[in-house]
Amino acid sequence: MSQPRILLLAATTGYQTRSFAAAAANAGVSVALATDRCHVLEDPWRDRAIPIRFEEPEASAQTIAQSENVDGVVAVGDRPTYIAALAAQALGIPWHPPAAVLACRNKHSARELFEAAGLLVPANFLAPANADPENAALAAPYPCVLKPLGLSGSRGVIRADDPAEFMRAFRRIGRILAQPDAARETNSAAIQVEEFVPGREFALEGIMTRGELRVLAIFDKPDPLDGPFFEETIYVTPSREPSAVQRAIETTTTRAALGLGLWHGPIHAEMRVNERGVWMLEIAARPIGGLCARVLQFRNGTSLEELVVLHSVGRMPEVLQPVKPASGVMMIPVPRAGILESVDGVAEAQAVSGIDDVIITARRGDRLIPLPEGASYTGFIFASGASGQAVEQSLRLAHSRLHFTVQPALDVVRGAL
Ligand code: ADP
Ligand code: CA
Repeated sequence: MSQPRILLLAATTGYQTRSFAAAAANAGVSVALATDRCHVLEDPWRDRAIPIRFEEPEASAQTIAQSENVDGVVAVGDRPTYIAALAAQALGIPWHPPAAVLACRNKHSARELFEAAGLLVPANFLAPANADPENAALAAPYPCVLKPLGLSGSRGVIRADDPAEFMRAFRRIGRILAQPDAARETNSAAIQVEEFVPGREFALEGIMTRGELRVLAIFDKPDPLDGPFFEETIYVTPSREPSAVQRAIETTTTRAALGLGLWHGPIHAEMRVNERGVWMLEIAARPIGGLCARVLQFRNGTSLEELVVLHSVGRMPEVLQPVKPASGVMMIPVPRAGILESVDGVAEAQAVSGIDDVIITARRGDRLIPLPEGASYTGFIFASGASGQAVEQSLRLAHSRLHFTVQPALDVVRGAL
């Protein structure tokens, strides 16, 4: 059989793109990279990359379809998923359809489609960011959650328990949406308002094959996420929930994914569970973000990236065995706003039993901005062990060993006021 070839769509030439390229090489799959970063000098694929423009998805998909003959499509990160879907369609390759990818990235459309699919959906409405906050506050159910329509990573997601909190949150999100980087990520200056759904939160990592979901992992999120901001911290798999709950998470995710129109390729779903059942929060048409993917390691050295690559060329392994009985990751939150001066205790954190790796991604001199304005973590802690409980304990202990020295900086702090 000739060597299969995939189209790798990426908005950056960073870590995640390199790990997909490495996974492809490992799997004996050749790669055609399409990116809008061809001008970046350190781009290792400068000679071979197909130049595309994320602002022109249709034209970019045409360029790709005309210049490449590939067997599968892989998208890295959120933004490239739409062009990936268009390109796959133009190439006649099975993938998630473009409309489904767009629905995933629109928190209001997703709600409408979940409702049409008969799922539990909190009361919700969409308000333009320039709407009168007082009127919107009158219409809102309480407690509620306000979130920018098109941002991600819990950025700008704020809980409000009464109209006064609502109006403050509404104005605060308006300011976040006006920031240049937020404006680049989303062109919809709108705020989704929905009833707060109490409950335990989970994530599901999976791959769909022509409408059929294969679950790779269900993650517990053991830290309470009750607001007012919703910082993701710990993910641990396998879930410690009873199997009936895990089955309900799986069936609801399948219905939600099909309701969105997702069809073929990776998905990352997030949901809450309470006494009324499983409430879908959102599904992304891509694998779990960035470094977090490392938390899933399968026997024979197979990474999540490699699975996604193999799946895209129809060579997904039948049997998958996790390397460790339990594993987890902690996304290290920003400790406080300011300029990062130093991080101490990394060696001590690494020495904690069960800890596989501690990676500090923030650099000395970086401006640290906590949620809801901020958009990134300071690093990641990875652990594995005999049980979910042991893994969670290792992560917490390792985190307690880290010490961040942050100098207050007025302009960073002022952003939140
Ligand atoms: P993002 O795309 O920014 O990650 P999400 O819709 O996933 O936005 O919301 C981020 C977090 O906010 C969720 O993981 C959850 O903890 C919380 N959240 C969002 N919507 C609700 C809701 N209706 N009820 C309770 N919590 C919510
Ligand atoms: Ca989310």
